[in-house]
Amino acid sequence: MIQLTNVAKYYPTGFGKTYVLRQISLSINEGEFVSIMGPSGSGKSTLLHILGLLEEPSEGEYRLLNEPVQKLSEKKRTELHRTQIGFVFQAYHLIDELTVYENIETPLLYKGLSGSERKSRVAELLDRFNIVAKKDLFPAQLSGGQQQLVGIARAIAARPRVIFADEPTGNLHSDQAREIMELFRKLNQEDGVTIVQVTHSEGNAAYGNRVLNLKDGWMV
Ligand code: ADP
Ligand code: ADP
Repeated sequence: MIQLTNVAKYYPTGFGKTYVLRQISLSINEGEFVSIMGPSGSGKSTLLHILGLLEEPSEGEYRLLNEPVQKLSEKKRTELHRTQIGFVFQAYHLIDELTVYENIETPLLYKGLSGSERKSRVAELLDRFNIVAKKDLFPAQLSGGQQQLVGIARAIAARPRVIFADEPTGNLHSDQAREIMELFRKLNQEDGVTIVQVTHSEGNAAYGNRVLNLKDGWMV
């Protein structure tokens, strides 16, 4: 499903360039639950952003669902992003001016679903995540754990085949974190969604089937 070949990422600095990632080659099969670990600054978020089509590699090749990502047109890449990928952020990244309901509905508007399809899809997610009573509230009125539930509901609303999660429980208390991780486990095991998470926590990594370790931009 995911294949990186000799991927590197660098930023220009002074006379030269600073590498954040070097010679990354990896494949992830559909249905896997993979954790990316490593010290702060080792390139984890950059790698996740490349996988989630939020950043482009400087060198090497990325194939997602057999598509050569860098060679696709902007339109095709956006479509791949909107239909196949969900992204979950540590700080939730919900839209403050929209209600819970509207935040979850946003990707369905992009996908062009009809009003009635959107309504039933959002209702199903509100119900599944036990947040029906919160649907008309704004993000600032929710606890961190509830905001992350909304973040995940939004990420999976368009029924993507892969979810990328960057420290999804990094800002949460441990009971809320456990609830979120159980949710990822269900999405992976029951719905067959492929999951790639960045985490500092061995406990979170234990939910997955495989760990990729980064150090100073190298896979070790
Ligand atoms: P991690 O997620 O493991 O903490 P990151 O991928 O966030 O690591 O960052 C890896 C390194 O890349 C850090 O040293 C960071 O300062 C650097 N970096 C990230 N983004 C940029 C950028 N836009 N320009 C220059 N350096 C960057
Ligand atoms: P419009 O801008 O046309 O009013 P919205 O984006 O507000 O449309 O809503 C789109 C659909 O979602 C409509 O069918 C609307 O009834 C429904 N909807 C929006 N907010 C809520 C909510 N809080 N609870 C239930 N349904 C909602």
